[in-house]
Amino acid sequence: MNIFVTGGAGYIGSICTEELLNAGHRVTVYDNLTEGHRSAVDARAKFIPGRPEQEGDILNAVTSAKPDAIMHFAANALVGESMTNPKKYFHNNAFNALKLADAAVEGGVKKFVFSSTCATYGPPDRIPMTEDLPQRPINPYGESKLMFEKILQWYQSIYGLEFIAFRYFNAAGASEKFGEHHRIETHLIPRVLQVVLGQLPQAEIFGTDYPTPDGTCIRDYIHVLDLAQAHILGLQSGKTGFYNLGNGDGYSVREVIQMCEQVTGKKIPAVEKPRRPGDPPRLVASAEKAIRELGWKPKFAKLEDMVTAAWTWHKKHPAGYPD
Ligand code: UDP
Repeated sequence: MNIFVTGGAGYIGSICTEELLNAGHRVTVYDNLTEGHRSAVDARAKFIPGRPEQEGDILNAVTSAKPDAIMHFAANALVGESMTNPKKYFHNNAFNALKLADAAVEGGVKKFVFSSTCATYGPPDRIPMTEDLPQRPINPYGESKLMFEKILQWYQSIYGLEFIAFRYFNAAGASEKFGEHHRIETHLIPRVLQVVLGQLPQAEIFGTDYPTPDGTCIRDYIHVLDLAQAHILGLQSGKTGFYNLGNGDGYSVREVIQMCEQVTGKKIPAVEKPRRPGDPPRLVASAEKAIRELGWKPKFAKLEDMVTAAWTWHKKHPAGYPD
């Protein structure tokens, strides 16, 4: 198939692009490179520099690529930042995404695959979290993604735009070639590994008074290659709707730091800090629906696999991508 990938220069988008190409698909990457890196775009993909804020830019890109499907990864994805700069999140994650959905309809694109998030749920009533839980986001990041989920539902029922929205839990790990490099890194695993690389003095633990066994937030980590696999299955499945992607295992911030110590063989100094606004205490997926309906089989379900893959990539690319 011919796939139009937004955000294909970013962390998850670059690795999904690589896996789509490995699976024999053709890919056009559209990315404005504010978060992404040109050198993270697989050389086999066609690259269109994106200017999503310019009238007609997204539509022109989609109509020139004539894709069978769109995979929409491009987004701002930092919970903490969304609490201080919500405007950025609503403009990019909702408004620019809406322009893309319009272009999909106008261009007659058959299928839309959307990177949504477990942040659309807010603090859950039940763990593990199934797709039918109420969605009550507690940060603008989650809200902006939920807004676009709703747009997709209406566009499906009225315009017939078929979609799959994957609600990712916490992506981690790397492929051999591509990995996680944010210009300002806020994610737990890369930040802890930066301590080992001597780029940060110590790890920081945001909040130690949560209602969890060790007082720190619990997240469900998922290997980025398993995420990519789910996208490829979703594309071929003919299914539509919402799917959680996680492993059903929760790890606390302290447990993640311990795993980084185990994998790197280094003691990692850590300091306790206040809570980060917008953080739900515990997010753990049930991905039973994706397993049952899409035939998804995560291959790297252990946190150790993810931290090992991330560490291998960061050791090879201590400064990340050159651009
Ligand atoms: N976190 C932390 N120290 C850091 C970065 C993150 O304690 O240096 C915590 C953060 O508050 C959250 C968890 O680790 O509870 C996962 O955060 P991350 O930003 O990696 O992903 P998120 O769950 O926000 O998407």
